[in-house]
Order: sequence, then C-alpha cells, then structure tokens
Amino acid sequence: MIGKQESNARCPSCGGRLREDIATIPYIFPNTVIVVKHVPAHVCANCQESYTSGSVTDRITALLHRLKDLRTEVSIVAYEELERIPA
Ligand SMILES: [Zn+2]
Repeated sequence: MIGKQESNARCPSCGGRLREDIATIPYIFPNTVIVVKHVPAHVCANCQESYTSGSVTDRITALLHRLKDLRTEVSIVAYEELERIPA
C-alpha cells in the first residue's frame, strides 16, 4: 500500500504511472470473498493494479473486519455504503 505522494506516483509492481480512478477491489480470505465497489484508488495505467490511500485503506480494513464475521461466501458492497453498515 502506498500512502504518500498522490501525484506522479509510480506503480510499486511494474513502475507504470498511476492515475486516480474508481476501482472495484476484491479482498480474498480463506472463507469469504469481499468485493468493494466504487473505491477511490490509484490505478496503474500499465498493469491495472489498484492502490488505495491511507484513509481509504483504514476504512476498508474496518469494514472487512465486520464482514468477515458474517460468514457469507461472497459479499459485495459499495464504498459509499460503508458508514451504513452497523458496527
Ligand atoms: Zn503497474
């Protein structure tokens, strides 16, 4: 994860240029897959890898901790809905 220098950032994987975009990012766990849509992210123009900034990552991490306990096989949520999920 990168948390600095939003502009002119380079992809840690391939060195391609990152652009601001809205991404759909799957998070894969042993017993569940959680897909988060509409995530504000930086996406590599070369390899399409998505990177989220620190505050976005924190928010998603909190969400994942909650959803993992639901024990559903696949969860699909939109980033803007995160605050509506009960703690
Ligand atoms: Zn890349």
